[in-house]
Amino acid sequence: MPTIEPRALEDVGTGDEAIFTTLRAQDWKEFHGQLQIKKSLMVAIQAATNRKESIDHTLLYGPPGLGKTTLSHLIAKEMGVNIKITSGTALNKTGDLAAILTNLQEGDILFIDEIHRLPKIVEETLYPAMEDYALDIVIGKGPSARTIRLDLPHFTIVGATTRFGLLAGPFRDRFGIIHRLSFYSPKELAIVLNNAAGKLNVTLENDAALNIALRARGTPRIALKLLKRVRDFVEVQDRSHIAESDVRESLKLFNIDTVGLDESDRQLLLQLIEKHNGGPIGLSTLAATLNEDTLTIEEVFEPYLLQIGFLKRTPKGRVVTEKAYKHLDKAYTPK
Ligand code: ADP
Repeated sequence: MPTIEPRALEDVGTGDEAIFTTLRAQDWKEFHGQLQIKKSLMVAIQAATNRKESIDHTLLYGPPGLGKTTLSHLIAKEMGVNIKITSGTALNKTGDLAAILTNLQEGDILFIDEIHRLPKIVEETLYPAMEDYALDIVIGKGPSARTIRLDLPHFTIVGATTRFGLLAGPFRDRFGIIHRLSFYSPKELAIVLNNAAGKLNVTLENDAALNIALRARGTPRIALKLLKRVRDFVEVQDRSHIAESDVRESLKLFNIDTVGLDESDRQLLLQLIEKHNGGPIGLSTLAATLNEDTLTIEEVFEPYLLQIGFLKRTPKGRVVTEKAYKHLDKAYTPK
């Protein structure tokens, strides 16, 4: 049995984060959707197991909440190895990396979340570690400084990132397996929700599950978060059964609309419509208007709005589409 160690240098946290840990898919059967990725990972795992080798370094990318961390746990479980978890922001010194790598055992998996945030110097120290399982460490300073090479066990890095484009080419090339996770269909999310409902000791009607799924922005993490809100709503009424009307009422209370937009998404679109006539508008102007940083807009707000066709990226900037105007009940004038 693999032992899953606490997040190196990171806290798992409480509240919603702890719930996600509880609800984490425990085996492949509980991990729904992403069929191609599942199949190809299973082949890679089987082949590595047959050869008694560790699996190739693996890079998983895609928006947050789609199952990258869960997949890395499942790979470790299937390979019967330990997994250590850290992140690009926590690993900010080569010394931290050396301490983690030298403590790994043969076959172990090192999961690095937000791997695009690794400082350059740490990233470059990883190159020989990934390729030759060796770590070059500089001892001493000035003219007496010398480099020693430490041998490392054969380990696997599973990197997760929301920003594939920010990884340097040579870094990407060192991953033998690369997969892009895509958004889930409402049907797939409804299955995830039904499973989770069982673990949360509530029952969920089929159309209630589908209604939550439709508002979950194609993301299991959001689907589970909404389920938790709806569960709170029925629990305070001493019930454990969730009907479709409960979903409608509770999510109205939490300001989540029928396509899953929350207040900040609506504000973004409304500001664009009211202050900039729907665009085109550049990212930095949009960020200034909303008092948000450009990264948050690009990573958090935009992917879903682009995916459902409410926002378009054009060479001149962001443009709100007619579909979004309709959804927000605003009069659209073609540009
Ligand atoms: P990421 O690492 O991509 O941000 P996580 O792996 O932390 O996402 O997933 C967030 C939550 O959603 C976890 O509780 C996880 O169990 C659940 N989840 C993600 N993908 C799936 C899936 N395909 N099937 C079932 N549950 C999933």
